[in-house]
Amino acid sequence: MSAQANTVEDRMNGLECPTVPSPEQWAWLQTFQLDDEAQEAALRGGTQYVAVKAHVVGKDDKSGYYRHAHLLESICRLNAQFAATGLYFYLDLPIAYHNNALWWDQSFSDGFGMIIANNVPNALNVYYVGSIENGGIAGYYSPGADGVVMYNSAASPGSNTLAHEFGHFFSLPHTFYGWEGGDPPPISQQERVDGSNCNTAADGFCDTPPDYAYYRWSCPAAGPFTDPAGTSFEVVDSFFMSYGGNGCRDRFSPQQSAAMRANLNGPHAAVEGFIEPFFPAGYDSSRLLKPLDGSVLVPPIGQRFAWTSVQDAVGYHVTVSYTSLFSAVAEEAIVQDTFWTALRLPEDRKLHWKVKPIFEGNTCEPYSGAFSFTTGLIAPPPTGLEEQVLAAVQVFPNPATAGSALRLDAPLHGIWTATWTDALGRQVLVQEQQLDGASASRWKSPLLPAWYVVQWRSPSGESFRQPVLLR
Ligand SMILES: [Zn+2]
Repeated sequence: MSAQANTVEDRMNGLECPTVPSPEQWAWLQTFQLDDEAQEAALRGGTQYVAVKAHVVGKDDKSGYYRHAHLLESICRLNAQFAATGLYFYLDLPIAYHNNALWWDQSFSDGFGMIIANNVPNALNVYYVGSIENGGIAGYYSPGADGVVMYNSAASPGSNTLAHEFGHFFSLPHTFYGWEGGDPPPISQQERVDGSNCNTAADGFCDTPPDYAYYRWSCPAAGPFTDPAGTSFEVVDSFFMSYGGNGCRDRFSPQQSAAMRANLNGPHAAVEGFIEPFFPAGYDSSRLLKPLDGSVLVPPIGQRFAWTSVQDAVGYHVTVSYTSLFSAVAEEAIVQDTFWTALRLPEDRKLHWKVKPIFEGNTCEPYSGAFSFTTGLIAPPPTGLEEQVLAAVQVFPNPATAGSALRLDAPLHGIWTATWTDALGRQVLVQEQQLDGASASRWKSPLLPAWYVVQWRSPSGESFRQPVLLR
C-alpha cells in the first residue's frame, strides 16, 4: 500500500478508546451475566428508544464545530448498526453548543469537568470535540461523569467509533478486556478457546470468543494467539467492541445485546425516550425562499435564510458551503424554525446553501435542492439611528420591478439621500427627499434589473443600508 493510500480513516483506526467499566458497572454486568432468566427477559419485547443529547463544542470564536451533516448521518447509520439489538437512537433537539477552548482541545480531566457541567438529565449525552489528549484518542465513555466524548475527526459517518462508545455506555467492556495496555492478564483471566472459562474471564460473554488483540487490527484477522491450554486461534469475529478495522466491525453478539437492553431497563433507565419515529413514504422537501438563487451582495452578517415548512418535520438542517458538493462548510445550524440568521459568512464569496427536514426519530432524509449566492462586504453598522427606529424601517416591494417606485416606510425626519450601488460598486442613482416622520415615501429605482444596495443618509450622518433586487 502506498503512502497516499493512507486515508484519514486508516489513521483513525490507529486511535484508541481507553474505556474500562467502573467497579459498579462491572459488578452489575457480572450479576447480569450469571442470571440466565434476566438475559432471556432482556431480549424479549419490541424496540426501545434512546434519547441522545448532542453537545457540539467549538473554540472560543465558535469555529471548529463537528459537521452537522455528519451528526445526522451518523445517527442514521447508528440505527442500522444497532438494528439487531432492538435499541433505536434519536436526537433530542435542540443541539447544545459550547464554545470553550479548554473543552475543544481537551485532556481527560477537562472532559470530566465538561460532562459534569453540561449533562442534561434523561438523555445519553454525547460531546463532539476537536481533540482528546493531544489527538491520540478516538472517543471514550466516562462512567464517572456518565457521558460519551467523540473526537470530531474520528466521528465521520463511515466510522464505527460511535457504536463502540455507545456499547460502553450500556455496560459493554472491550472483547479483549484485561489486555488493554498490552500486558497479559492473570492466566485465569485469559479466555480459553474451549469456552471453559468464558463466564469468568475477559468480557464475561460466552458468545464473544477469545480476543487478545489490544491493538488496532485490520480485516480480516488478528493473531495467531495461544490460549493457556496451548490452543492457537485468530480473532476473526468483528465485534464493535473489538479493535478491528472499521471495514469489518459490524455486530454486537446476542448476549451483548441483552446486556445493553437490561442496562437500559436498569441503571440507565432515565435515557429511555418515548417517540414515534416518522418515515414519510414521500413528501415535498423544503423549497428555498431567501436568499434567492443567484443573489449578490448578500450581507455576511445578519442575512436571514428562509424556506418552506415540511409537514411533520420537527427540525431543519440549514447549511452554507464554499463548494457545490457541500464538502467545506461556511456556517450551518440545526433549527426548529423555517428561518435562520447567518452571523459568520465570509465576505465577497460565492456560496451554496440547502436545507434538510428532520422528522421525529429520523435523520436519514435527503436534502432540498441547492441555491447559490455571493456575499458582499461586511456593511458598516448603521449609524446615528436607534435600534427601534431601524427595526421600523421597511422597503416595499423587494424584489421590485426595475424602474418602478419603491416605498419606504420609516419614522425619519429631514432631508434624506438614497444612493443605489450595483454589484460592481458603481453609484447608479442618487435621489434626495424631505421626510416627515409619518407617511411613506416613494423613491425612484434604476431601470436595469440587478441586485443593488441602497444606502439612505441624512445630512447629520445617520444612515442605513438595504439590499434590493430589481427584476
Ligand atoms: Zn473502547
